[in-house]
Amino acid sequence: MQTVAIVVSLTLTVIAIPYVAYAVSKMLKVIRVGGPATGRTDQPVARTVTMLKETFLHTRMLQWTYVGLMHWFVYLAFVILASAVLAGYFQLFDPSFVLPIIGHFFLFEWVSEGIGLLGTIGIIALIIVRQKNHPRGLGRRSRFFGSRFWQAYFVEAFVLLESAAILFIRGAEYRLLLLEGSEYGNRFHFPIAGYVGDLLFSGLGEQGLENAIFAIAMIKVSLAMIWLMIIASNLTMGIAWHRFTAFFNIWFKRESDGSTALGGLEPIRINGKALDMEALEDLEEEDFEKLGVGKVEDFSWKGILDFTTCTECGRCQSQCPAWNTEKPLSPKLLVMGLREHAYAKAPLLDADPETLTDEQKRELERPLIGDEDLFGVIDPDVLWSCTNCGACVQQCPVDIEHVDHIDDMRRFQVLVESNFPTELNNIFKGLERKGNPWGMNPKHRMDWAKDLDFEVKQVGVDVESLDEVEWLFWVGCAGAFEDRAKKTTQAVAELLNTAGVDFAVLGDGETCTGDPARRAGNEIVFMQLAMENAEVLKETKAKKVVSTCAHCFNTLKNEYAEFGIELEVVHHTQLLNRLVREKKLTPVAPGAGAAETGKTITYHDPCFLGRHNKVYEAPRELLEVIPGATFAEMPRNSEKSFCCGAGGARMWMEENLGSRINVNRTEEAIATGADQIAVGCPFCRVMLSDGLTAKQDSGEAREEVEVLDVAQMLLAAVKRDPSEAAADVVKEAEAATASAVEAEPNAADRANPDSISDTADAGPPADTHTKPEEVTGTSEEVPKDDPAPTSQEADEKAAAEHDVPLADSGAAKEAVDGGGASTQASREELAPEAETTDAAPDEPASEKESSAWDNVGAVNTDLLPDSPASSAGDGAPTPDPEPEEGDVTESETEAVPASDDGPGSGDDADPQEASPAEEPAPAPAPAPETEPVEEDAREEESGEQPTASATPVAGDGEIVAVEDAPTTEPTSPDSAPLSEANPSGADVSEAATSLGRDDETDTDGGSARS
Ligand code: SF4
Ligand code: SF4
Repeated sequence: MQTVAIVVSLTLTVIAIPYVAYAVSKMLKVIRVGGPATGRTDQPVARTVTMLKETFLHTRMLQWTYVGLMHWFVYLAFVILASAVLAGYFQLFDPSFVLPIIGHFFLFEWVSEGIGLLGTIGIIALIIVRQKNHPRGLGRRSRFFGSRFWQAYFVEAFVLLESAAILFIRGAEYRLLLLEGSEYGNRFHFPIAGYVGDLLFSGLGEQGLENAIFAIAMIKVSLAMIWLMIIASNLTMGIAWHRFTAFFNIWFKRESDGSTALGGLEPIRINGKALDMEALEDLEEEDFEKLGVGKVEDFSWKGILDFTTCTECGRCQSQCPAWNTEKPLSPKLLVMGLREHAYAKAPLLDADPETLTDEQKRELERPLIGDEDLFGVIDPDVLWSCTNCGACVQQCPVDIEHVDHIDDMRRFQVLVESNFPTELNNIFKGLERKGNPWGMNPKHRMDWAKDLDFEVKQVGVDVESLDEVEWLFWVGCAGAFEDRAKKTTQAVAELLNTAGVDFAVLGDGETCTGDPARRAGNEIVFMQLAMENAEVLKETKAKKVVSTCAHCFNTLKNEYAEFGIELEVVHHTQLLNRLVREKKLTPVAPGAGAAETGKTITYHDPCFLGRHNKVYEAPRELLEVIPGATFAEMPRNSEKSFCCGAGGARMWMEENLGSRINVNRTEEAIATGADQIAVGCPFCRVMLSDGLTAKQDSGEAREEVEVLDVAQMLLAAVKRDPSEAAADVVKEAEAATASAVEAEPNAADRANPDSISDTADAGPPADTHTKPEEVTGTSEEVPKDDPAPTSQEADEKAAAEHDVPLADSGAAKEAVDGGGASTQASREELAPEAETTDAAPDEPASEKESSAWDNVGAVNTDLLPDSPASSAGDGAPTPDPEPEEGDVTESETEAVPASDDGPGSGDDADPQEASPAEEPAPAPAPAPETEPVEEDAREEESGEQPTASATPVAGDGEIVAVEDAPTTEPTSPDSAPLSEANPSGADVSEAATSLGRDDETDTDGGSARS
């Protein structure tokens, strides 16, 4: 037996080791096909700590506690197995062999046996979990849908046998030592294996036991070698390879501080260097094709390592809002598809074309993005279904960076191939020409403040710079133009004013942060907007910024450092929470409005506030201190929150596939029994309001239910008639506030402290501040002798200082009432006020508006899409309904089919996926009627100074001619293959230099190649 065991074991080893070494070299060759990955080796100590924590402590796996724990047992057993296999080689020659020094040390023995047992239990549990969640019963709802089962079964069987083998071989060792009368042959040294030995080997004599040990050692070694050879033959077998590659994938993750690849998006890198406008102008001809990822080898080597490491666990898929609403996108299947293609294509890149088979040639020429007819690797519907919600990245136990990869592919489609959903064309135009995705006239940016009873300071008008105030209130495009978001803006301004916070706004000096452009792949428009904003922020000496929009918040906080501006950015819920803690705002009012006693509130986490920036507690704390309200959590909350469907520029795209994400989320909110659905982002508000309206229309939601921003609810609770602030109510509120302060959350995440709390870049949430002045600067801004007022005092003070009749102030009531009413509005009513500017000169601006930001408004409104967001349900701007005079050139030059030919509007699902929902989403409602031109005329008559006219301005203050420009409409791959549509990249730099909204002589909808 011994001879056989030795021959078999050594023969397999001699074959397996070189074979595996060859496979590893092949794998490295594939990974090296990728481009450079920048910034992946800084902070080596921190990276090593993160890697050890995530692997040995399974911190990210334990986001799913039970499964994570079972996998942890299996993982530890696998580590022990390595030493057991090593010991097996020696046992082939000496059945009594034990590891030197520790071999009979009781703790080592106990741990080995314990882990062998737990590993066996763990793998059995995981086998059961896989079978219970098998797609045979659950279909698409299974997270294993699309995973390769034979590979999973193979790995499970191996782990089961090897884990059990530890106990078997030790059981035989125990019996042998017992027979030999060794001091170690007892249950103290074999606490578990002793029972196995008695059960299996009690009848064997010494020779029999030795043969059993030889046999088991042979089985251990042989199984390990066979396992290695099989995975070496399958380099795309991530379920096995991740046991080796995960260490590296985690070590080289994007963020050296251990956080996930969320928050800001990585810039485009050309040859490892971040792209900026200067670099874009100097781009070499051959580098134009590197604007984004157009071929699998355009991914960085880390990207290909990501694909290699995917375990096919499907956690990402289970959380993906697109997948959960029957769209073809699954982050898991996307990663698997890229992996298969990378490993199929990479070896062919250096091959002699003459030697390639037809199939290999086809693989080599396969488009990365393309539908079934084009044999594309990723279907366009898959690519454009992503909301950038980050759930996949948050969930992935091996730190795969899905969002970066998806947006890199979008960039190439937009910048190089001009191939993107038709609807995006309008927002690109609006962003380029008006600085906001709706294409609204910037001079209306201060309209929201008109109804307030106090003056909102505007930089360049009321204050010279932000040095004179504490906070810049970043209003955002939605906050300035979208009717319901304006209520949030008003509520926040009123609360800040009530609390005595000194703040100012930029007015029409503000433009879109560029989030929709960047997330849609239009990096050039994003860079242009970001540069423009960064310049303004520098000039105005901005340092501390508060934003009501989760997207603005994320972009300003995480992406503007690239443009040379470092800001302390907080979300309005963070700042308001701080003010409540400091008792500068005291919610006390029961009764009318959002804070009405007995109301149940639920909270929807905006993805770009929660998952992307880990702000979970501040809004919840605010809601929990509203007197009389009951807070009800949705099942999917915090880091497992479900997207509203608006991120990743999906707000402006039609949702034709599957069911609606916003309706799915609204149903969950309604199911909590909530009377009010609280949000912290204007995009979420639009989406959930739309979902609620749909459910109310169908009678599935109560008419009283409404969607409101947290700030509106707080305002309603803070602001009331002082006479109503009876002493007992004050006491109640103070007690509620005190309890909230007592329960001041630590920085830890609610669900998974390990995965989040160690993240340094969690921003300065109000709940984690230890020094109030760090956030509010209250030591300077608020006199020390202004004690935290009681609620009544606060009201009286506010009323006296700001002349605000609190009891019947319109803003608070309107904020609440308006919000409630708005939830009844149809989608088109949610869109910002339409602006018909065709053929009309820009309206005159008020003196206030014109002083500092004239150049911002110096654009030709004739050229813009006039309708605001369509009623399509996504807030998408309505494409120009009819060719207009000013669009003649555009329509003539467009080689682009109508929207239904666009990639985003097609019905083709990923052929490998389950088909999308059979019933498409409802057709878009008609667009809102545009605002009559007369408004312009009225304003003109008012004698206000124009900010721009059709007269050109050259240079400072001079009006520049703005002409319509041909617009590169999105094209389908059929109509505009790269080689035909974009034969040269020479015009990219021209586009780059002409994108400024002050010089719109050659704008093109955002494509670098027009
Ligand atoms: S970011 Fe969200 S929508 Fe996009 S793939 Fe990941 S989970 Fe799906
Ligand atoms: S990408 Fe990550 S979460 Fe998704 S299946 Fe692969 S390993 Fe699992």
